[in-house]
Amino acid sequence: MSKVLIIGAGGVGSVVAKKCAMVPDVFSELCLASRTKSKCDAIAADIANVPVHTAQVDADHSDQVAALIRDFGPELVVNVALPYQDLAIMDACLETGVHYLDTANYEPPDEAKFCYRWQWDYRQRFEDAGLMALLGCGFDPGVTSIFVAHALKHHFDSIETVDIIDCNAGDHGQHFATNFNPEINIREVTQPGKYFEDGRWVETEPLSEELAIDYDFPEGIGVKRAYLMYHEELESLAQNIPGVRRLRFYMTFSESYLRHLRVLENVGMTRIDPVEHDGHQIVPLQFLKSVLPEPSTLGTTTKGKTWIGCVIEGTRGGERKSFRIYNTCDHEDCFSEVGSQAISYTTGVPAMIGAMLMVKGVWMRPGVWNTEQLDPDPFMEQLNLHGLPWIEG
Ligand code: NDP
Repeated sequence: MSKVLIIGAGGVGSVVAKKCAMVPDVFSELCLASRTKSKCDAIAADIANVPVHTAQVDADHSDQVAALIRDFGPELVVNVALPYQDLAIMDACLETGVHYLDTANYEPPDEAKFCYRWQWDYRQRFEDAGLMALLGCGFDPGVTSIFVAHALKHHFDSIETVDIIDCNAGDHGQHFATNFNPEINIREVTQPGKYFEDGRWVETEPLSEELAIDYDFPEGIGVKRAYLMYHEELESLAQNIPGVRRLRFYMTFSESYLRHLRVLENVGMTRIDPVEHDGHQIVPLQFLKSVLPEPSTLGTTTKGKTWIGCVIEGTRGGERKSFRIYNTCDHEDCFSEVGSQAISYTTGVPAMIGAMLMVKGVWMRPGVWNTEQLDPDPFMEQLNLHGLPWIEG
């Protein structure tokens, strides 16, 4: 029976809180804290079977997080606020002796450059304190890396190439909206692409048409164009999958999304440096975020499916082998279950499962870890039980 503090009351935070409450024999008491307390209260009002406390916290300040931890006394903090808060929350966990889990790696607010180095630098401190930090435990990153660990454990002697493909074939009915935090989403997709090949990183144009693939998705989705992007699990897989020769990440986008994104970029609305407006300094992308729909509000209108999987090649018993593993999720089914669209759902469910495996001791190991470094079997089993079944072949 564990008390868990969840920080962030957006699309993902809502799913994490509701899914934790569905496992009351593990999660006996929750505290949901965020910058805007009323959002925590609205989520807590939908949860009846476990006590849910709510609190206001600015997680940019580790002293505020530490005070909240001391007050509530959790065993683990699940950070589903924004990547900017990762280090402040990790500091608070170290100060108060509490385990840590997140779904997105740290990135400094003034530079669109996410990488694990900042959080991997905490390895010794977490290990010395006997605490665990589990990084990137959403779907991608998170489940995608667990899929690779599962493939290596059960299907390959050695893995040569991995292509991770993320397809959101859903439609939210809006001209332009993002299914997770707009600021983080737009910073990610406007960066140059990058993939790993033969021991080095190859940089590419952002969303290059030349490198895009037309992939025929199963489950009635059909052919969609997927664009090569850099994504954070490539960095950890390159270190943790022995001998891997190539790692790539692809994502699909609707025509409407790409058209709007290009216009917004062309007119400077995706800039992350401050500009002078009417005597104030504003960051155009942060202003844009304020006028776009919040991801947590898209569930009511989103229809269609997500498909996220890995296509893996390598060898088994001296023979070459190709293998695919994926999950398909239906936006409307997610909404009926927890009132959220599938992107929040596919992120929140793995965060809940990671938290469960940590507090039950199944995955507990002092230090800072990425998901592919832990035994995939118990996690894969829980995915099938908590709404994200996988298919392999
Ligand atoms: P939302 O924008 O819907 O929610 C973010 C929440 O964090 C909001 O409640 C926001 O508060 C809160 N927040 C922001 N800044 C602070 C702060 N300084 N202190 C306390 N709370 C704060 O985003 P999502 O729920 O869509 O995404 C949450 C996280 O999940 C992101 O880091 C995202 O990158 C990650 N993610 C990971 C995925 C994966 O597969 N691994 C996929 C999708 C998302 P307020 O409401 O006041 O703004």
